[in-house]
Amino acid sequence: MGSKHLVKQLRVHGDPRIEERDARAKFGWKREEAERLLDDEMVALVDLQKRLFADKSASLLIVLQAMDAAGKDSTIRAVLSGLNPAGVDVQPFGVPTDEELGHDYLWRIHRHTPEDGYIAVFNRSHYEDVLIARVKKLVPKSVWKKRYRHIREFERMLAEEGTHIVKIFLNVSKDKQKERFEERLHRPDKNWKFRAGDLDDRALWGDYMQAYSEAIEETSTKHAPWYVVPADRKWARNVCIARILRHHLEQIDPQYPEPDPDIDFDNIVVT
Ligand code: ATP
Repeated sequence: MGSKHLVKQLRVHGDPRIEERDARAKFGWKREEAERLLDDEMVALVDLQKRLFADKSASLLIVLQAMDAAGKDSTIRAVLSGLNPAGVDVQPFGVPTDEELGHDYLWRIHRHTPEDGYIAVFNRSHYEDVLIARVKKLVPKSVWKKRYRHIREFERMLAEEGTHIVKIFLNVSKDKQKERFEERLHRPDKNWKFRAGDLDDRALWGDYMQAYSEAIEETSTKHAPWYVVPADRKWARNVCIARILRHHLEQIDPQYPEPDPDIDFDNIVVT
């Protein structure tokens, strides 16, 4: 499938209909082919990131949201660690601290949005405040309902000020999550990742899907679109994400700055 068509297909307009999407989708690729495609995408992404960093006229914010074990960390490793780390800031958002809870929920978020030239990756984000906050009833409906509007307005402001926003929901199936949890439980190199609370969230799967669907529908906008990426097959997921990021970086179209006209580059001798 062509890149443009793929990106269009993954992008959400209106109700994302998460349950109807195939978390195992592989778009006709075989694993080896997808790995080759990812290599090609990475070459393009590295070049675009270099330009973004040199140009310093815009930034890219990538919001990653998902259920546990959907592969947020491995996405970051597979797709983003190939970029120049000096220009990438990965920021996880866990349970808020007391200080963070003493402020509005966007306070801790805003200070990590990217500076011009940089890419910021949010591993979880302000969306937790309309997801877990809703599902676990941390705040009443009258509070989380208003947050869709706050988020739309906050993201619009960021976009108008030069932050390009891409939001990705990694769509893992409930069966695949079970498989990955079991692997975590039985592998000493992975069981440190398992939290008892993971099972509580799994038991609330339906509520989370409803919360995700509504949050995505309410906040997928032209300036800050959501993508639902199938996440059961990591190799297909990686190509999808790389293509989405490439599409957005190409839209930014960063350029190397013009050289200083007062410098005669051809006649400079470095001794
Ligand atoms: P992950 O599951 O993202 O890989 P982790 O298991 O290492 O991360 P942390 O990063 O410490 O755990 O925290 C993640 C947890 O914090 C999730 O359960 C998430 O729902 C919760 N969390 C994040 N933001 C908020 C918030 N605003 N309010 C309440 N809980 C939140």
